Amino acid sequence: MRLHQPGPLTTDRLRPDELAEPVAGAGQLTVRVGACGVCRTDLQIASGDLAARRLPITLGHQAVGRVVDIGPDVTGWNVGDRIGAYWLAHACGHCRFCRTERENLCVEAEFTGWDRDGGFAEYLSVEATIAVPVPDGMTDLQTAPLLCGGVIGYRALRRAHVAPGQRVGLFGFGASALCAIQVARHWGCEVYVCTRSPDERQRARELGAVWTGGYDDPCPVPLDAAVTFAPVGWVVTRALAALDRGAIVAVNAIHLDEIPAFDYADLWWERSIASVANVTRADAREFLTLAAEIPIQTSVDAFALEDANAALMALETGRVRGAAVLAINA
Ligand SMILES: [Zn+2]
Ligand SMILES: [Zn+2]
Repeated sequence: MRLHQPGPLTTDRLRPDELAEPVAGAGQLTVRVGACGVCRTDLQIASGDLAARRLPITLGHQAVGRVVDIGPDVTGWNVGDRIGAYWLAHACGHCRFCRTERENLCVEAEFTGWDRDGGFAEYLSVEATIAVPVPDGMTDLQTAPLLCGGVIGYRALRRAHVAPGQRVGLFGFGASALCAIQVARHWGCEVYVCTRSPDERQRARELGAVWTGGYDDPCPVPLDAAVTFAPVGWVVTRALAALDRGAIVAVNAIHLDEIPAFDYADLWWERSIASVANVTRADAREFLTLAAEIPIQTSVDAFALEDANAALMALETGRVRGAAVLAINA
């Protein structure tokens, strides 16, 4: 299901194109896709809010499937292996960031479903060094939606230097935070959740939060680490004010409106604000291993591949309860 021209979402914004099954080139794997998650970023590219980098393009950057063809110069993979493809599609391997295992910052990075064809398709080409193994025990449908918000939520916890047993604050409680709280609880952390929605506060308590409140409710303890998920600048100042000495707040947002002025006393004592950009292959690998071990609970709204437009529209109008996922060859 390919995007030829971005614009308002309609039942034929993405069109079913017949393409030849890809032959794996050097360093590539061809994957028969089982399931692919539908993300807000797909929606933004389809509607034109995020400028398309290539047209036509196959969207989708949360794909799980099995290797059916292996290109020359590939080691470590076998036909039949189950792999995950995620937002990072390519990193140069030689820039100052790639050389220090920070390929998420690579200056020549390319992204799945934006620079390269993604997973809203029966077959997908993936770079063998970027693909991550998907552990047994989770279905394709359960795993796919973890490959974007789940992995980035995990990276955000790492950016905030969350350690086992700590007091961790989560500000905002969407799909990414739903995964992050399960990881933090697995690590034996005490989790404090701030969100406006009473339903989300209820859900957070069900998932083991020791305290929940609104953004104006003062957190009852100083936090060892915090992550903000709400795309609103003033929430960062709330999180900062709740931090203990030396603690970090990681901002899990690509776009944020202005962070309002705050008192330097809230940053003093070596508190920090960190942003989170993209993910590394280590993040994806570590998070999927953890997700299978926990195991992370996800709720999925499945759509057929040919209903990809309906899935995008359902996401746009807030009619998706769980994570929207295309069930393809599942
Ligand atoms: Zn995404
Ligand atoms: Zn690089």
